[in-house]
Amino acid sequence: MPLDFAFSEEQELFRETLREFCQREIAPRAREMDTKMEIPDDLIDKMAEMKLFGLTIPEEYGGVGEGCVMATIAAEEIARADVSVATAVLFLVNAGWGFLLSRYASDKLKEEILPKVAEGKALIGIASTEPQGGSDVSGIRTKVERKDGKIVVNGEKVYISLVREIQRRGGGYFALGTSDPKLRHRGVTTFFLPLDAPGVSTTFFEDMGRNALSTGGFRLVNVELPEHYVIGEWNKGFYYAMEGFQFARVLVAAACIGCASRVLEIGMEYVKQRELFGKPLAKYEGIQFPLADDYAAIEADRLLVYRAAWFVDEMYRKPEASKEDLKKAALYSSLAKLRAPYDAYKACNDVQEWFGAYGYTKECDVEMAVRGVRSYSVGAEGGQNIMRIIIARELLGREYLPY
Ligand SMILES: Cc1cc2nc3c(=O)[nH]c(=O)nc-3n(C[C@H](O)[C@H](O)[C@H](O)COP(=O)(O)OP(=O)(O)OC[C@H]3O[C@@H](n4cnc5c(N)ncnc54)[C@H](O)[C@@H]3O)c2cc1C
Repeated sequence: MPLDFAFSEEQELFRETLREFCQREIAPRAREMDTKMEIPDDLIDKMAEMKLFGLTIPEEYGGVGEGCVMATIAAEEIARADVSVATAVLFLVNAGWGFLLSRYASDKLKEEILPKVAEGKALIGIASTEPQGGSDVSGIRTKVERKDGKIVVNGEKVYISLVREIQRRGGGYFALGTSDPKLRHRGVTTFFLPLDAPGVSTTFFEDMGRNALSTGGFRLVNVELPEHYVIGEWNKGFYYAMEGFQFARVLVAAACIGCASRVLEIGMEYVKQRELFGKPLAKYEGIQFPLADDYAAIEADRLLVYRAAWFVDEMYRKPEASKEDLKKAALYSSLAKLRAPYDAYKACNDVQEWFGAYGYTKECDVEMAVRGVRSYSVGAEGGQNIMRIIIARELLGREYLPY
C-alpha cells in the first residue's frame, strides 16, 4: 500500500468551496475590518450560514460533526483570506472549544448552548489566563465552589479573546477555576461562563495586531451559575483543558501557514514586477534565497500541521485511545504550534522587507500579517517555551519535567 498524502474528494471539495467563499466574502474586507477593529455581524452571519461555527459540533446539535482535519482546512483557508488572522481566530476558538464542550458538557448545557453556536447566534471562547501568569495552568487562582445546588465563582481572567464579540452576540467561555489552589492541577474544574451573568465585569486591552477581534478580561465577583454548567467531572478540568489546547494549537498553526502562504504569493507577485538596477527584484539571489527558505519552511510546517490534525482525529476516532495515541496528539500539536508561528512570522517579515517603504504603510496587507501572526509566538494558545516543555516531556518522559 503506497503512502497517501492526498486529501479525500470530500476534503478537496470543502477546501475549494471554502476558498471561494473566503476570497469573495472575507478577503475584500480584511483591511477595513482591521482599521475599524470589528468583524461585522453580517460576515459572522455568513460564516454561520457556511456552517463554519457548527463544523465541529455534532449533528444532533445542529452541527456538521467534523473533526480536526476539516477544521484545519478551514483555519488555513480563512487565514489566507484575512492575513491579519482575526477572522481565523474567531473561527478556530469556536471550533476547538465548541468541540470540547460537545465532548464533556452536561446534556442540559449542550442542549442550551451548542445549537446556538452552530447557528452563529452564540460564540464560545476559552478563559484560562490569569494576571499571575498564563503558562502555569495548574496554578490558576479563580475559585470555584459548590453552594446550595449552584457553583459560585470568584477571580480574574486576562488576555481573553472574543470578549466584545461574545458580549454583542451572546455565548460564553469554556472557563477554568480551582476548587483548591493547593491541589494544583488536581483541583482544576472547568465550567461554562456566560458573560452576561451577574457579577461579571469586563475590561479591554489594545493589541498590536489581529485588530478586528477584541482581547479583554473580566473580574468575577460571587458569580452564581447552575450546577449543570460544570463541564465534565469536578476537579478533572485540567485534563479537558489540555485536550482543548491540543486541538486549538493545531488550528493556530494552520492559520499561520494559511497566512504565510498568501503573504509569500503577494511577495512573489510584487518582486516579479518591481524593477531595480535594471531588472526585476525577483532575479536577485538576495530575494530568491529567503523566498526558497521561507517556502520550504511553510511547506514542511503544512505537513506537520496536517499530521498533527490527523493524530488528534485518530485519538477521538477510537473508543479507547491508547497511551501512544495520546502521546502522538500531544507531541505533534506542540511541534506544529512551535514551528508554524515562528516560520510564518519570518516569512511575513521577509516579504515586508521586499516591499521597502510601502511594506511599512497601512496600504500593504503584509504589515497586518506581521502584526497578526506575532500573537501566536508571544503567547496565544500557549507560549513557545511551553510547547518545548511538552515536546521534551513526550520525548524524555514525565520524570524530566522541570517542575
Ligand atoms: C492575542 C492573544 C490572545 C489571547 N487569547 C486568550 C484567550 O482567549 N484565552 C486565554 O485563556 N488566554 C489567552 N491568551 C493568553 C495566552 O494563553 C497567554 O499569553 C499564554 O498562556 C502565556 O501566558 P502569559 O502571557 O501570562 O505569559 P507567562 O506565563 O508569564 O510567560 C511569559 C514567558 O515565559 C515563558 N515561560 C513560561 N514558563 C516557562 C518555563 N517553565 N521555562 C521557560 N520559559 C517559560 C513563556 O513561554 C513566555 O514566553 C491570549 C494571548 C494573546 C497574546
